[in-house]
Amino acid sequence: MSLFLVKKQHIYQKAFKNVIKLHDKYFKKFISEAQIQETVAKIALEMAEDLEDENPIFVGILSGVFMFFSDFMKIYPYQCEMSFVKLSSYHGTSSSGDIKELIGLSQDIEGRTVVVLEDIIDTGNTLEEIYKIFKAKKVKDFKIGTLFFKPEAYQKQYKIDYIGMEIPNEFIVGYGLDYDELGRNLPEVYQLHNHNMINLILFGKPGAGKGTQANFLKEKYNLVHISTADVFRYNIKNGTELGILAKSFMDKGDLVPDEVTINMLQAEVEKNPEANGFIFDGFPRTTAQAEALDNFLAIKDMGISATIALEADEDILTERLLERGKVSGRADDQDEEKIRNRFDEYNQKTAPLIDFYKKQNKFYSVDGIGTIEEITVRLSTVIDDL
Ligand code: AMP
Repeated sequence: MSLFLVKKQHIYQKAFKNVIKLHDKYFKKFISEAQIQETVAKIALEMAEDLEDENPIFVGILSGVFMFFSDFMKIYPYQCEMSFVKLSSYHGTSSSGDIKELIGLSQDIEGRTVVVLEDIIDTGNTLEEIYKIFKAKKVKDFKIGTLFFKPEAYQKQYKIDYIGMEIPNEFIVGYGLDYDELGRNLPEVYQLHNHNMINLILFGKPGAGKGTQANFLKEKYNLVHISTADVFRYNIKNGTELGILAKSFMDKGDLVPDEVTINMLQAEVEKNPEANGFIFDGFPRTTAQAEALDNFLAIKDMGISATIALEADEDILTERLLERGKVSGRADDQDEEKIRNRFDEYNQKTAPLIDFYKKQNKFYSVDGIGTIEEITVRLSTVIDDL
């Protein structure tokens, strides 16, 4: 392979990853280049059969159509002319609001067969404007072709003569389509990443089994498990600044301050842009953390799917923690007073989150007493019903 090709491959692998970020949102690959090219060829040849002797004028609606138009023309085999137009809004003096105006149509199209090419038709609002504008001109025949069509979003009755591919009602970018002007140059189509995510909060008192269950659920549902306590402990082990700060609180059974915990949690989420979803274990533990989590996820077009509480009695949990302390050596598991303090912290600061998530209709409660397998089944039933 030439040096140039090696370099190109390297740059492309870096740029066109499975998940990319445009402005504030993540998008994942949705329609491959090969699939797009096949669709373009299909629609171009379909039109070629119908329009062989027509010498049609293909009119591309800018900007989104530029890639489709160009690839289409490389395949369309017969004589044709082409033109590009833009629909621009101008504010009329009437109260009817925005009026659309066509700019850039240079040819005289009277008596000609005109084929408008669109990259995508969703609600049909733009299509309606196009129909109105072209109806006023005395063309011989008027046809519409679109590469992508969203049947679930379409609200109009106008006939669309040629459709490349029907797609679900998801926001897409790439191959000419943009998100706030970015993404048009992508050779493939991407869709918003986070719509099918499962983001779970495992909720419960210390020792309720959140960590144990998270380990099963993360495998079963292919999720990333973030345990705030584990991240703190990792930092303590490595003697980081964060670890030194967290240790003083954790050893006493107190909560680490919100600001520190929230920043850390956000950094952990950011590290996993390709995740199918997250299990938040031990977070949020205060109302401020819950609000911060909601805001942070909303910016990323994500959201909490469910908060599932593992219910267990404090006396049973105390026994469990003391047992665990013998093996783990954790200072906060070995001393009954510290354990009581952790329950107090929970009852005061974390329990109010039950109402917080109940108000959002996202709170589920599961009996946390039983074998590990039994509890996994109970949790899975809730998740599968979401
Ligand atoms: P856990 O093992 O989940 O009981 O957590 C052990 C300790 O880590 C807690 O007692 C807190 O000191 C600290 N910690 C874990 N998660 C949080 C959080 N979301 N907010 C504040 N402190 C936390």
